[in-house]
Amino acid sequence: MKRSKSNQVILILRYKCILKLIGGFKVHRIEEMIQDVRDLNVTHVGIVNTEEIEFSKEFRKMCEQNKCGMAGTNWMCPPGVGSFESLRDRAMAYKKGIVLQTVHPLESSFDLKGMEEGAAKHNEVFRKVIYLLATKYQLSNILPLNVGPCTYCKKCTYTDGKPCRFPDKAVASVEAYGIDVMKLLRNCDIPYNSGKNTVSYNSLIVFNLSEEKINH
Ligand code: SF4
Repeated sequence: MKRSKSNQVILILRYKCILKLIGGFKVHRIEEMIQDVRDLNVTHVGIVNTEEIEFSKEFRKMCEQNKCGMAGTNWMCPPGVGSFESLRDRAMAYKKGIVLQTVHPLESSFDLKGMEEGAAKHNEVFRKVIYLLATKYQLSNILPLNVGPCTYCKKCTYTDGKPCRFPDKAVASVEAYGIDVMKLLRNCDIPYNSGKNTVSYNSLIVFNLSEEKINH
């Protein structure tokens, strides 16, 4: 199939953009990774440079206002998770990020059960993506950020005054890190809202490339 000149230019620009974004990471490899993530039932996937992520104390304050009731009950929520500055610096130590969004149908905008089921499905998919990155793509140097508190254990040890049981499995939220999720999604051309009677959940996994392992 012959491509028009303008289409060819768009294609070249798109590839240049991807190349700039991923540095030494082979293009076909990152495209394969994005497709593998999509195949795990992730509706939208995007790649960002962490320097493009916006961190805001205001968003962190919203998390501290404790509308979800989890602050002070979980190691991965404020105040246990750490200060805004320490988390921002921690995330910025990574160069790239993969943004994941899953979208779930609801019976109505008051369908709390549907929202909970959607969140549970999202968490399941999110853990599968972490496993995929760590195994097939050998990305061990990652920091995954999800939605809401860490749910790895049935009951977090925070309120018992005991240390986190599984520090290598514990996951904080993008909100606890004060990340501007709307801007993050906009950077990746991912819609914030997928329409009436749907709920979307967003996660971010920041990582550093291990090119020796990935470029084969
Ligand atoms: S791994 Fe368990 S103890 Fe640690 S933050 Fe998560 S729920 Fe709490």
